Amino acid sequence: MGFFEMTKTALKTVLSRPVTILYPYQPAKKTSLTRGHVVQDGSKCISCSICVKKCPSQAILLNKEAKTWQIDRFRCVVCNSCVDTCPTRCLSMDTQYTAPASVQGVEVFTITYVKPPKPEKKEETKE
Ligand code: SF4
Ligand code: SF4
Repeated sequence: MGFFEMTKTALKTVLSRPVTILYPYQPAKKTSLTRGHVVQDGSKCISCSICVKKCPSQAILLNKEAKTWQIDRFRCVVCNSCVDTCPTRCLSMDTQYTAPASVQGVEVFTITYVKPPKPEKKEETKE
């Protein structure tokens, strides 16, 4: 009985169309929920570092001195955590996939606002 079931499954698989596609030669199927790649709008970023702390794969690097926000595409697991937690909504998930292997691993965005450092606490003097 098991042999006939297996033969039936094998024949059905051989005769049906493949469920996979030859990406990137064939365009990938996309919906509005497709996670392609993270995009950043530097004009809205307030350099709060929340995305850096929330990223599970340490793919984001914020450099306040250089006013840059960068993402390592090879580290990013496209979990959407940074997009969900960014307070200014300057991060978004584009449905377009980045081209495999032909794109540079690290993409750098310029930010316009840099959060000033916290003022140092004055030491209390004993009288
Ligand atoms: S991208 Fe969003 S979460 Fe990340 S530092 Fe800028 S404002 Fe903060
Ligand atoms: S999508 Fe996830 S893994 Fe990619 S940068 Fe954002 S938090 Fe990190």
